[in-house]
Amino acid sequence: MATIRGARALTPDGWTGAVEVVTAADGTIAELRPAGGPVPDVALVPGFVDLQVNGHDDVDVATAEGEDWERMDGLLAAQGVTTWCPTLVTAPLEAYAAPLARITAAAARSGARPAVAGAHLEGPFLGGRAGAHPTEHLRAADPGWLAALPGIVRVVTLGPEVDGAHEAIRTLADRGALVALGHSAATYEQAEAAVDAGARLVTHCFNASGELHQRAPGFLGAALSDDRVAVSLIADLAHVHPALLRLAFRAKGRGRVVLVTDAVAWRSGRIGAIEMAPGDDGVPRLPDGTLAGSALTMDRAVRNVVGAAGVDLADAVAAASTTPASLLGLEDRGALAPGRRADVVALSGTLEVAATWVAGEQVH
Ligand code: ZN
Repeated sequence: MATIRGARALTPDGWTGAVEVVTAADGTIAELRPAGGPVPDVALVPGFVDLQVNGHDDVDVATAEGEDWERMDGLLAAQGVTTWCPTLVTAPLEAYAAPLARITAAAARSGARPAVAGAHLEGPFLGGRAGAHPTEHLRAADPGWLAALPGIVRVVTLGPEVDGAHEAIRTLADRGALVALGHSAATYEQAEAAVDAGARLVTHCFNASGELHQRAPGFLGAALSDDRVAVSLIADLAHVHPALLRLAFRAKGRGRVVLVTDAVAWRSGRIGAIEMAPGDDGVPRLPDGTLAGSALTMDRAVRNVVGAAGVDLADAVAAASTTPASLLGLEDRGALAPGRRADVVALSGTLEVAATWVAGEQVH
């Protein structure tokens, strides 16, 4: 049994004082209790959950194999991520089987490491805002193909306006997948119909999301006003202005905002089959300047929404941990409370990651 100590901890009831998190042999939290004696000057928060990771540094999840996965484990643990979704972008339908098999194998590895919750397919059934996705591979939704996907697929982003979207959403929701809407120029009515069908998240709200007009609220108007959907945000301060990050937190409230990195293997020059390169601002782009994922880390996303958008730290942590865990249906994590997995991040006074634990074992 490990004991994790800190100056304060964020629990479902709010911040504690000096605290000890006592872990049980099965990797869960046995107890949080007041600490006696000196404690490290860190804030303990639940481990971060990133729903959208195409890669980091030079590791692209579309092609990762062998040791690449161990390297990803270290890169994720260093930014406080304890659960994540390897994400595949738009490709021909027949190109998904091989990377999904590799992700399935990576998820089955034993040992203390950030947990692969499942794969996220962003595409190929996207709507009218392709962004960096190759338009030649975008297509109408194929419910039959979706129904036959391996169990590793846990999140699918599709466009509410594509043909077959409603049947696809119902098919995915029935198998327990999280359906997200994104890369869309849908009308408000089209977006609402997709939420009626079971979609529960809007992927990287504001980016590739169409326009907000006072008489035609569109996809963004539905995303920001409908309490049945959460919105994810890429808070690298390049994708979305801090004022709109603040707006999203205020409009949606706690429990309906998710921080994602949408990070890519920015040093490799590739996202799957897409070529990209960091621009002068360090943000990965296509040769024509279109944003192509990010070089963001989750701890920096938390610092950015707190520091630049004025979001309360507890709300930022909920968006980085509790809410994405809940959307995935992972009620065993996402909070520091007895019985939950002891996935814990220790944040310094400047919100840098001082240490990370997965199921009670220190991994960073
Ligand atoms: Zn995207």
